[in-house]
Amino acid sequence: MHKVVILGARFGGSATAYWLHNLFRRRHLDITVVDQWTMMTYRPALVTAAAAHPRLADNWHIAMQRRCEQAGQRFVRDSIFRIDPQKQQVHLASHPPLPYDTLFVATGSDPGWQTIPGLGADSGGVCEDYLARQTGDHVQRPFRSIAFAIGPLAQAPQDRPRVSGSLDLPAFEVSFLLDAWLRKQGRRSGVTMTVVTPAPVPGEAFGPKSSAFLLRELSRRHIDLITNARYARVESGAIHFADRKPLYAEKMMWVPPYHGSKLLRVSGLDDGYGWFPADQYGVHREWPNIYGVGDVSSTALPKLGHIAMMQARTAVHHFYALQRHGTPTPFRPYVLHVVWLGRGKGMLTMSNWLYGGGRELMHVGVSSALAKAAFDYGYKVFSGWMPVMP
Ligand SMILES: Cc1cc2nc3c(=O)[nH]c(=O)nc-3n(C[C@H](O)[C@H](O)[C@H](O)COP(=O)(O)OP(=O)(O)OC[C@H]3O[C@@H](n4cnc5c(N)ncnc54)[C@H](O)[C@@H]3O)c2cc1C
Repeated sequence: MHKVVILGARFGGSATAYWLHNLFRRRHLDITVVDQWTMMTYRPALVTAAAAHPRLADNWHIAMQRRCEQAGQRFVRDSIFRIDPQKQQVHLASHPPLPYDTLFVATGSDPGWQTIPGLGADSGGVCEDYLARQTGDHVQRPFRSIAFAIGPLAQAPQDRPRVSGSLDLPAFEVSFLLDAWLRKQGRRSGVTMTVVTPAPVPGEAFGPKSSAFLLRELSRRHIDLITNARYARVESGAIHFADRKPLYAEKMMWVPPYHGSKLLRVSGLDDGYGWFPADQYGVHREWPNIYGVGDVSSTALPKLGHIAMMQARTAVHHFYALQRHGTPTPFRPYVLHVVWLGRGKGMLTMSNWLYGGGRELMHVGVSSALAKAAFDYGYKVFSGWMPVMP
């Protein structure tokens, strides 16, 4: 039987497992999924935990091991050390090397805390359960200033399109949600809030309409914005920049710099900058039996779960087409995202503007927030294998 191994079981890995299950008969493939966690942390929900509701994080752990095993796939819980593309093996911490015929890598980007002097997970964060919880807990206590800072994205110089920030949207979402919560508590007037981004505009991957709305919304809520940030160093209570005065903030919440994957680097599979060098089907440029899906891929821009799901679909359909001598369809990205605004509202953007397409649909209102809530709930109920997949 053809051995397929999937590394990573969040947005990209889970959608890959879904499509393999959906397209192939069970007897054709021997599928193994590997992750260090049996439960997926659903990161889009962490922004609500960071905005003063730390316990909400408990609601957003999804049983991926159970989901895969119910479908007859093997799930190995272990740390992945190295991929050996010559021997077609994956080296794990506590299991024997895992052989594969075809490999799907969906292990995401490592946080690049160490790439800015003084920055660390203890500076404050939102991207993992424990960080969102910690931020949510801290902001419940009295404070006078907070910075929501976005780290840079370390792309390879030749990569297109260009995106400056690792992921800007969670920082804007937490600022809006926290603004709404502080107002409700009657505490907002005593707190200075600042979003700091390396990008020239908020919502840099969305397009001009969404950016203009975000700018207006920040201004309306008296949330300050620093754009084109070039970080020099961070210390407790201050962010120092290369070309402007420091920002002093009692509390911080960082979306850390994204600088690719250590696993790819040690395996000699990266593009020289830590990213998976993928073609338009997600295939590795040197190893045709290795696919890259989601945040780990150089072509996943911006780094969103929705993009990871679309890439999984493209990659598995390419693999399927190869087996059946069919014609695969290349990855045609578009951004589909809802930014939580607080008070039951959201900003929905559907756009191909980043890829030179010139189309951007933007809608602000309760219906946008409901659409996001429905997606999140559906993802949880169906453990990522939804009846309709992007
Ligand atoms: C706070 C926040 C809010 C977000 N909100 C949204 C949103 O609203 N909409 C949206 O579309 N996207 C959102 N995103 C982005 C989205 O979460 C990511 O794009 C998505 O998680 C990428 O999925 P992935 O599968 O590529 O990688 P990851 O989510 O990084 O998953 C990688 C998996 O691989 C495993 N892994 C990695 N290395 C190893 C190893 N060495 N050994 C074993 N296991 C390993 C990890 O445990 C993990 O389970 C948000 C992100 C954050 C941080």
